[in-house]
Amino acid sequence: MDNNTNSANNANAAPEIERVRHELRRRSLIAKSVTDITPGMRRVVLTGEDLADFVSLAPDDHIKVIVPGKDGEEERRDYTPRRYDNAARSLTIDFALHEAGPVTQWAIDAKPGTTLEIGGPRGSAVISNKVKRWLLVGDETALPAIGRRIEESGEDSVITVLGAVAGPEEQQTFETAAALTARWVHRPLFDATDAAPLIAALSGIDIAPQTLVWVAAEASVVRAIRAYLTEERGYPLAWIKASGYWVKGKADTTEKFG
Ligand SMILES: Cc1cc2nc3c(=O)[nH]c(=O)nc-3n(C[C@H](O)[C@H](O)[C@H](O)COP(=O)(O)OP(=O)(O)OC[C@H]3O[C@@H](n4cnc5c(N)ncnc54)[C@H](O)[C@@H]3O)c2cc1C
Repeated sequence: MDNNTNSANNANAAPEIERVRHELRRRSLIAKSVTDITPGMRRVVLTGEDLADFVSLAPDDHIKVIVPGKDGEEERRDYTPRRYDNAARSLTIDFALHEAGPVTQWAIDAKPGTTLEIGGPRGSAVISNKVKRWLLVGDETALPAIGRRIEESGEDSVITVLGAVAGPEEQQTFETAAALTARWVHRPLFDATDAAPLIAALSGIDIAPQTLVWVAAEASVVRAIRAYLTEERGYPLAWIKASGYWVKGKADTTEKFG
């Protein structure tokens, strides 16, 4: 048990989270630019009149990226609206490049002019701006949500990021008014299901009371980190928001941990 995870925290109320529903709409977009922000992360900026009323209120919102599948059926996967601008009619999505399923393959093949359909977001879980301390933990698939949270935070926020990526070339930098500390662990992509490097790094990080600990990565990694935080650190579950953003060996699979 780490004394820094103050047991008084258990007495604190859970952070306020407002759930906002959005009209579910399908939008037809065109890639305006395709760039690699790191060797393994492809950024696609999409444009289209349909973005005039696009709404995403929380950095960890997700949209459905819809691409044609092999048998004529549509394939849909969850992606983070990394950045959007209604006036400019633009939406940015960052695609982690890995063992390619249909959507990653779409990103690998994308060029300016390539079309893409999206749906959603269906809703947003907006965490109260009274939350000022954040510990954001994740792998490549979590970096878009992490980056957006950092960039949208004000100067009264204190944020620690712990990211797992393949090497220094995959580390991202973020512009923010917040006080930001970034830590990175390196592991090859084929070891993305190993929680040990992230847990070892976490063991050296103090977690002040009322820090919102946000975790997203491969589901077994998230499960292990959540267990470490609650069982070994005694950190209150109400202050942990954890999601399995993908499941090793299973297409189109995510896990919610509440
Ligand atoms: C809320 C939410 C937001 C997300 N936001 C983003 C985002 O902004 N950017 C992003 O890149 N991803 C994001 N993801 C993860 C993304 O949805 C999955 O990685 C998705 O499975 C990719 O679809 P695909 O068609 O390429 O692969 P699938 O057809 O789903 O899977 C094919 C194979 O690839 C494997 N696989 C899937 N993802 C990975 C991975 N990351 N590394 C290694 N192997 C993998 C699967 O286990 C499967 O064996 C998000 C997920 C959630 C739940």
